[in-house]
Amino acid sequence: MERGRAHAAVVRAAAMGGLFLAESSAFARRAIERKRDGFALLAGEVEAFVRNYLSGEILEEQMASLLMAGCIRGWSDDEIDALTRAYVASGSVLSFATLGRRTVDKHSTGGVGDAVSLAVVPWVAACGASVVKLSGRALAHTGGTIDKLETIPGLRTALSPQELSSIVSSVGCAIGAAGPELAPADKRIYALRDRCGSVPSMGLIAASVVSKKLAGGADAIVFDVKVGAGAFMRTRAEAAELARTMVDLARRAGRSAVALLTDMEEPLGTRIGTGLEIVEALEFLRGNSADASDARLAACCEAVACAMLSLALDVPEEQAVRMLREARAAGAALARFEAMIRAQGGDWEAVQRMAPREPSFDATALRAGYLVRVDVVGLGELAREVVATGGPLAGLQVRARIGERVEAGSPLVRVHGGSAAHALRAAELFEIGASAPPPRPIVYERIGCATERRRQAKAPQ
Ligand code: URA
Repeated sequence: MERGRAHAAVVRAAAMGGLFLAESSAFARRAIERKRDGFALLAGEVEAFVRNYLSGEILEEQMASLLMAGCIRGWSDDEIDALTRAYVASGSVLSFATLGRRTVDKHSTGGVGDAVSLAVVPWVAACGASVVKLSGRALAHTGGTIDKLETIPGLRTALSPQELSSIVSSVGCAIGAAGPELAPADKRIYALRDRCGSVPSMGLIAASVVSKKLAGGADAIVFDVKVGAGAFMRTRAEAAELARTMVDLARRAGRSAVALLTDMEEPLGTRIGTGLEIVEALEFLRGNSADASDARLAACCEAVACAMLSLALDVPEEQAVRMLREARAAGAALARFEAMIRAQGGDWEAVQRMAPREPSFDATALRAGYLVRVDVVGLGELAREVVATGGPLAGLQVRARIGERVEAGSPLVRVHGGSAAHALRAAELFEIGASAPPPRPIVYERIGCATERRRQAKAPQ
């Protein structure tokens, strides 16, 4: 009891930044021990831990121990919320209040062949929403929107808050790189987690993702949580827990938020690469994509765009879908993409000339049967390798989908700008079996969608 009261006094002092080094070390050790033994930390304790770590009074090994203890024991909602707030408070928070309109952003937990951001940002803007999208670079086998955009000659993604505001004010949307001033504590702690094996912790991932989105200043956020062999979340249960945690965190911070659980058992679109995904987004916005397998990308884009528009304009989802389909059919989404590329300094004529690099080599089925499984991580890694050697218009084009019947010699993947050896490796990433697996939806679940929000609003207290 006595010890508990003394610890509470130390937590208060730590929270006010008033600890000497020795006291700080004792505070850290006590918090680590309590976390190790399965107790939840107080919000002030979590915030003080992060602040004193950044100021150097808590040591790297102490932060690493706390993260690992939490990785094993799990984190309470209040701890995750406190961690998120500490990350946000460690840097700048952007504000687009001068726009006089609500802004919307989206986040994908990372996929392969995932050109959704490139397509939905101008599409949603074409329907009247203000979209400020802050993006990152490639992580592990997944692609990064900033790397893709930077294949466009002249295009700038290092935009100041004033530039972002001015582009969104004139064009309706912008995609900028999330700068180092946003949630710097997350940057440092993420690097430590990466070195110490504590990346795969639901609470830590949620705090990391949501803090960057909150610091980015959007009023509404849509989380596209990928699930399956090519995603960081392999099961629906894990993905749903992450999605619920992120939606709750964003709402606690006063933002509107919804999450979609979407399929990543195979690449989303047909193109995998940096420049090739720009080509795919362009084809989608033109509405002339000839390849029927693009239905996967189209369905995911429509679900994400619908959630964004519904949140941004506060319209029912059925109305949002109608507005989106009309805008795409009328060419307004493509026009908005052009305006955004030009406003960010990109060469639009060069974008229209972008085409997959030659020579190309086909990976073909080694035997007849049904496509039952794809090593999506392997495809993502192979695409990165091909791009690294062949340049921005090199990459992969998927030509067969899970469930499809293939004959020996049927094309599975086309490798652009790579080699015959790449094609042979690609062929080995496809598993062919005797029968087709059951079909899978593109969107498994919506968490916090408009109908659920309305239901919650009517529920008795
Ligand atoms: N992406 C992030 O931004 N943070 C994590 O912790 C994991 C993935």
